[in-house]
Amino acid sequence: MWLNYTFYSEKEPKKKNQLILFIMKDAHVHITRLPHFLKTATILNSKGYSAVSSACAAWEWPALESLIPVFKDLTLAFGVHPAEIGPNIKADLETWRLYIENHPKSWVGEAGIDKRFSGYAPGEAQEIIFSAQAKVALEYKRPLVIHCVGDYLRVFKILSSLGFPAQDSPIHFHRFQPKLTLLDLIIDWDCFISLHSDSFRSKDMGTFLAQMPKNRIGIETDADESFAKPDTPPEAVAAKLLLELEKTKALLEKYSK
Ligand SMILES: [Zn+2]
Repeated sequence: MWLNYTFYSEKEPKKKNQLILFIMKDAHVHITRLPHFLKTATILNSKGYSAVSSACAAWEWPALESLIPVFKDLTLAFGVHPAEIGPNIKADLETWRLYIENHPKSWVGEAGIDKRFSGYAPGEAQEIIFSAQAKVALEYKRPLVIHCVGDYLRVFKILSSLGFPAQDSPIHFHRFQPKLTLLDLIIDWDCFISLHSDSFRSKDMGTFLAQMPKNRIGIETDADESFAKPDTPPEAVAAKLLLELEKTKALLEKYSK
């Protein structure tokens, strides 16, 4: 199973709705954007931390590769974020595809649409670049990590037009903001959602968690360059990140009762 964050302990019998959070898996992070990222990564690995780390701009893809020897358990995700669509996008996408090809276990993303950045309107750049990446996810049978600030239903519509849902290319909505209007689609499409501490501001969270299959839910930090000041020592960055993950895990446990 591609998207299994093993929040259930495989060693213990699964009781319905029993959530056993036993590992520190960060379902979405940008390790390459953290201060002193290689040193920070080494410390995180030594603490048993594992993650899906997204690199969403051309400069970041080789940096993500450099993390491979550092981590025991790291899933690489290569993508172009809607905020990172620049004048070289055509060449960037060609390069990006090579990273996807060269790393057969890598995921696609984060990719998506975001109303805060230019090119958001239907048919504009964000939709084109998102669709291009979603098609490659289908072609190479990879999970697709989706970033959406704005219209989730539009994302479903775009994906549907491309041939999703597809069993070999599961959809992962990251930093998901639960809304009851999306619940049926999320369940029917067998989507995976990862929750950031700010996801719990949603008034629909309790109901959402009661309905969602527990193995479709993860927690994330989405930590990037804004997570800690550039001069923060790596030990402090790693400690802050683990604390953030613990806090989110506690929120998930609280809302899952
Ligand atoms: Zn992110």
